[in-house]
Amino acid sequence: MLPEPVIKKFQLFNEFRELLHGFSTRQGGFSKAPFDELNLGLSTPDDPQVVKRNRQLFFKELKLPNNYLVFPQQTHSANVQIVNKPGIVSNCDALITNQKNLFLTVQTADCFPVFIFDPLKKVVALVHSGWRGTAQNIVGRTIKKMEKNFGCKAVDLLVAIGPGVQQTCYQVDEKTANYFQQRFLQPDGPGHFKLDVQSKIIAQLKECRVPESQIEWDSQCTHCAKEAYYSYRRDGLNSGRMMGIIGIVGA
Ligand SMILES: [Zn+2]
Repeated sequence: MLPEPVIKKFQLFNEFRELLHGFSTRQGGFSKAPFDELNLGLSTPDDPQVVKRNRQLFFKELKLPNNYLVFPQQTHSANVQIVNKPGIVSNCDALITNQKNLFLTVQTADCFPVFIFDPLKKVVALVHSGWRGTAQNIVGRTIKKMEKNFGCKAVDLLVAIGPGVQQTCYQVDEKTANYFQQRFLQPDGPGHFKLDVQSKIIAQLKECRVPESQIEWDSQCTHCAKEAYYSYRRDGLNSGRMMGIIGIVGA
C-alpha cells in the first residue's frame, strides 16, 4: 500500500475552486530516518530517487492536473521573479504568476512559506521568508511587484502563512536581532534574543494594507512539532524539507 501524504490546507482559500494549494508535512512518504517520511528536498543528503518518489506522491495527492511546476533556487535573498513557464529559477525567493496551470513551489524547514492569492486579478505568489528575507521585507516587495505588474491591490489579497519556527525556539545573536524592532524580540541571555519572524511578516503585510481578516497564519512551531515537520534548527543536515504549492487551475 502506498503511504498517504498528510497535506495542510488553508481555510482562507477553501471557497476558491480554481485555486490549488497545499503545504506538505513530513508524514506519509518513503524516506527512511532521519529524513522520514515525506522529504521533498533534493538538496538534502537523502536518496534523490526516494525524494523524487515522495514528490510524485505529494503531487498526486494534490491532484495536480499536470507537471507544470516552477522551482526557485532559494538563496535567502529578496529577489522576486514573475514567471510564465515551468522550470528552475536561479537565485530567487519569491515567485509570481498570472498563468493558469502553472504551479509555484517553495521549500522550507523553519523558514515561513507565504501563499498569496488575488481572487480578482487571478494572480498568485509564493514567498520564502526566513529571517534574512523578512529583514529585507521580501513579502512587501512581492506585493509591490504584483501591484505594479498586474494591477493587484493589497486590500484584495488573501495571504496564508504556513508553519515555521516560532519565537520560543528561535534564538538569534545581536547582529541578527539588530535588523528587527524591539517588539519582535525577547531578551534571552547576554547578547541573545528570541526572534518572532512570523509576527514581523504579519506586520509587513498590514503595512502593505492587506486587511488582517484576509491573513491566515499557522502558529504551529516546526521546531516543536517533531512528528509533523522538519526543522533545520533542530536537525541541521539531517533535516528534510517541506514543500508549499499554489497555482490556478484553468481550462
Ligand atoms: Zn518550538
